[in-house]
This record gives sequence, C-alpha cells and structure tokens, in this order.
Amino acid sequence: MMSRRKMLYEGKAKILYEGPEPGTVVAYFKDDATAFNAQKKAVLEGKGVLNNRISEFVMENLGRMGIPTHFIKRLNMREQLLREVEIIPLEVVVRNVAAGSIAKRFGLTEGDALPRSIVEFYYKNDALEDPMVAEEHITAFNWATTQDMDEMIAMALRVNDYLSGMFMAVGIRLIDFKLEFGRVYDQNDMPRVILADEISPDSCRLWDANTNEKLDKDRFRRDLGNVTEAYAEVARRLGIMKENGSVTEEGSPE
Ligand code: C5P
Repeated sequence: MMSRRKMLYEGKAKILYEGPEPGTVVAYFKDDATAFNAQKKAVLEGKGVLNNRISEFVMENLGRMGIPTHFIKRLNMREQLLREVEIIPLEVVVRNVAAGSIAKRFGLTEGDALPRSIVEFYYKNDALEDPMVAEEHITAFNWATTQDMDEMIAMALRVNDYLSGMFMAVGIRLIDFKLEFGRVYDQNDMPRVILADEISPDSCRLWDANTNEKLDKDRFRRDLGNVTEAYAEVARRLGIMKENGSVTEEGSPE
C-alpha cells in the first residue's frame, strides 16, 4: 500500500503520503528517534506503532471533547488518515511544571510547579533550532494572526486541562507538551485553525505520579534506557495495550 502512494514530505519521525481522497494525507509513523535538532539519532523498534496508537487515542478523545483536529482514522499499525492542512510554522508548548528548556532558561529546578500553566511559541525551523518567538514576530512575519493566536492559546489550554486529567487518572503527571496547528478552509473559503501533528510520548513530558519516573522522550534524550518500554507503559495505562504487550485493535480501554 504504502510504497504506491506519492510521498509528500519526510519528517524526523513521520512520512506524509498523498491520501486516497483530495484533501487527505496519510501519515506513516517511523521508528526513528531524534533529539537536539537531529544531532542525536537512533531507531527504536516499535516506537512508531506505539505513537500511532497513543496519538490516535488522544486525538479521538480530544475530538469528542469538541476540539477540532486533523485526525480522521487509523489505517493500520503504522499509518493514519488525516485531513490535509496548511501547517502553521509554530510549535505551541504548554507547561505545568518546570522542566527542559524553561528550567534552563530561567534557572528553575526541574520538577518545581509553575505559578500557572504557561503557553509558549517557537518558530518551527530546524536550521534555526526552533527559536522562541513573541506575538510581535508571529504577526509581523505573518505566521499567524492575532485571532489565530488567541484560538491556539484557548485550544492549547483546553487540551492541557483534558490531558492533565486523563493522565492523572492513570497515575501520570503531564509536565509539558508541544502542539502544532494547521489551517483549513470551509466552503466559503473561511480559514479555521485545527489541531494537527501528533500527541505522544515524543511530544509530551510524562512522569509517573508516584515515583517521578520519566515515561517520555527524555529517556532517549538523557540516555536513561528503556525508551519503548516506557512508551508501552503509557499505552498500557491508557488501556490501549493488552497485558501481554500487544497493541489492541479497538480504541476503548478494556
Ligand atoms: O525542550 P523543551 O523543554 O522546550 O520542550 C517542551 C516540550 O515540548 C517537551 O514535552 C518536548 O518533548 C516538546 N517538544 C517537542 N518538539 C520540539 C521541542 C519540544 O515535542 N521540537
């Protein structure tokens, strides 16, 4: 199937193919892991399957909550059918607890609660190493309008509320995460911003609520080992994976 489709774009963790209908694309989840702007690389067997399944679960739940997303359906173990969007070249990061770059930038201790949830914008550009940007840059360079930004912030905070509760219910603290958004046009050519890309342990920091054990990509970035095992643990707790370690076909927890 895959090889007959026209490739549109190859990213670090996914490949996008032309979809079966106009206005659709197929995303193929690779096992490739990269960090530090692709300076660190590895193949983590089974990661693509887990992220495909976890992202499906999260996007479907967000869709049910009334958050518009590009997700249409999962096609198989490694592919999902998506609505084609005009990608907005921003990474929107929501943080609840100090970790990663905010801890470094402001000299905070990793694990300290932030006074409130913080939403940040980064310009999605590998050559520039995704620099942090202000509203001033975003509107001046026409990456998004003020209204787009308001919509992205509102959606990001709703996603944060929903995901924080969803993960807390299975003993996981949502420390921070990254979202991407895309633009779609309705019949009257009116643009609308919807959630795009993936939500998975590659794009979130997830800590065990009792032990603070990291269950996310920091295991790869910091050479902590057992990366896919941690992703599988997230899937297992969400009810996506059976106890025997296989990924279940149906979306609902058993
Ligand atoms: O590195 P930093 O602390 O800024 O990352 C914040 C959150 O955004 C983390 O959950 C990280 O996994 C995610 N992120 C990402 N893709 C990037 C940068 C950050 O998914 N290019």
